Amino acid sequence: MIDPAELRIALAELGQPPYRATQVYQALTRGLVTDLADVRVLPRTLRAALAERFEPLTLRPVETRATAAGDARKTLFETRDGLAVEAVLMLYERRATVCVSSQVGCSVRCAFCASGARGRARDLSAEEMVDQVLHFARELRAAGRAVTNVVVMGMGEPFLNYDETLRACRLLNDPEGFGLGARGLSISTAGVVPGLRRFTAEESQINLAVSLHAATDELRDRLVPLNRRYPLAELLAACAAYVERRRRKLLFEYVVLAGVNDGDDQVRALAELLRRPLYHLNLIAYNETGGAFARPSARDLAALRARLVAAGVSCTVRRSPGGEIEAACGQLAAARRTAG
Ligand code: SAH
Repeated sequence: MIDPAELRIALAELGQPPYRATQVYQALTRGLVTDLADVRVLPRTLRAALAERFEPLTLRPVETRATAAGDARKTLFETRDGLAVEAVLMLYERRATVCVSSQVGCSVRCAFCASGARGRARDLSAEEMVDQVLHFARELRAAGRAVTNVVVMGMGEPFLNYDETLRACRLLNDPEGFGLGARGLSISTAGVVPGLRRFTAEESQINLAVSLHAATDELRDRLVPLNRRYPLAELLAACAAYVERRRRKLLFEYVVLAGVNDGDDQVRALAELLRRPLYHLNLIAYNETGGAFARPSARDLAALRARLVAAGVSCTVRRSPGGEIEAACGQLAAARRTAG
């Protein structure tokens, strides 16, 4: 419903000129309406015809939890076919970032992540991804704020749902519609090399992050099973090609698992792989997901960062709010059905 090309076809079928499709599209993406009956620029008869034929929302918000400090909010949505999806809003002083899910569940099954625990139910459509953002945009507007960043870092592996993820990004980026700057958009992949290569060839300013988590194949095979399919040499070659072609900064994510991937061997191997221009490593303290891993202390995390910086790696620690409401990295897991 939110795709302008599809809207033009649908409105043409109702005997309407193209500018009507633009009005509907802008009412949805800029006016953030949830009910076309409220769109006053449209003639009443058309509003009635649209209300009869179209349901603009693909997701129904079911439940929202917020942190005590109010810096993060997680909403559980129900899809039309009764599946559960979660998205998170993170509030900073000057930024408001929505973390979007790209699949219901996930098939990658990283050892430390809750999203893959029950496997993948299905891919989300671009409309369903955009709707997660529009939901928070409405909430923010009521508070006089706007979405400044969207990260496809929720449930699912975006490069295993490549076309819809890119379509969602383009819709969000459309200056005629929602108008989010491409530089405000980021996609994170667990290392799906064919997707990474395809993404490298796109004409776009969208940011890319690669989930590394280990710098030796022996360890990464265990933590990110996808590594058996696309081992480090292949992954890093695709990363180098990306930076070469795009001349953009590339972010590597690294979930720090105390005593597992924070030893000297990994620090040495990381320096070997990442001591390159435009590469940046982002350390994320492991968030509890009921697994067998331990979260490093803030002190150990800072010490690890210092060791990496000393080894020549550009490196920072990610602030990952929302742990108390299970909305932090790795904790999105709403693969259950909400209906029936
Ligand atoms: N599937 C994509 C998108 C998820 S992004 C990807 O893997 O990149 C979410 C980030 O949080 C990834 O880097 C993921 O590995 C990381 N993560 C997963 N579980 C985590 C946990 N328990 N604690 C901290 N980070 C975690």
